[in-house]
Amino acid sequence: MRLILLGPPGAGKGTQAVFIAGKYNIPHISTGDIFRDNIKQGTELGKKAKDYMDKGLLVPDELVVEIVEDRLKQGDCTNGFLLDGFPRTVMQAQTLDKVLKNIGVGLDKVINIEADKGVLVERAVGRRICKECGTTFHIKNNPSAKGDICDRCGGNLYQRDDDNEETVTRRIEVYLNETAPLIEYYSKQNKLVTVDGTEEIDKVFEEIVVSLGSGL
Ligand code: ADP
Ligand code: ADP
Ligand code: ZN
Repeated sequence: MRLILLGPPGAGKGTQAVFIAGKYNIPHISTGDIFRDNIKQGTELGKKAKDYMDKGLLVPDELVVEIVEDRLKQGDCTNGFLLDGFPRTVMQAQTLDKVLKNIGVGLDKVINIEADKGVLVERAVGRRICKECGTTFHIKNNPSAKGDICDRCGGNLYQRDDDNEETVTRRIEVYLNETAPLIEYYSKQNKLVTVDGTEEIDKVFEEIVVSLGSGL
């Protein structure tokens, strides 16, 4: 399976990605996670990306495309992959099409997770992430059984710098202007499936599995 997860910030891409990657046994590639790891490690790429991310703007295409191209060349992507948060512009999508064509493979499906703005802001602002294992929680919708501590590994939970109301609102605008055109782009390729992201987490996953044409 070669899949893309599309959807505005807070739609539930990362949450669903964990389940999808597990079910189909494919690597979960999140460009946001790659940038945050680079920032944490103080790399050149991290330094270049940080300002854009803090402002809620997209990191320039040329920086993103290169890291995804390198990642897709790694051995674990031979039988498939799940891209989460990439592509985010038409230029990124066109480049991805070229890269895949060069290695003689194509995308199977693009999963578009829909949710309205009110839901998105509430979800992103309440998001908490484990520093150690990366599990995503929500203070109300999906809390850790141990409060500020991860109930899987005991790590501390943190809030992303860009998960405040102002930056989330900017990110949603950026999504509508720069990323939403990909809905038409992939629907023209007959690759798009759309699911209702406002349902409960399990329900959304069921809808995704059904839309991919496989049993639960
Ligand atoms: P994205 O990767 O699209 O930005 P996440 O998967 O990180 O979104 O989800 C954003 C927040 O909303 C997280 O705190 C997550 O726990 C919560 N969340 C995800 N899916 C749902 C859902 N279906 N219902 C309620 N809350 C959800
Ligand atoms: P969310 O899950 O809320 O949609 P991500 O973790 O995917 O957020 O992305 C966080 C930030 O990282 C984005 O606001 C943007 O600055 C940067 N980023 C991630 N992926 C891309 C991409 N494909 N192109 C440009 N910028 C990106
Ligand atoms: Zn943890």
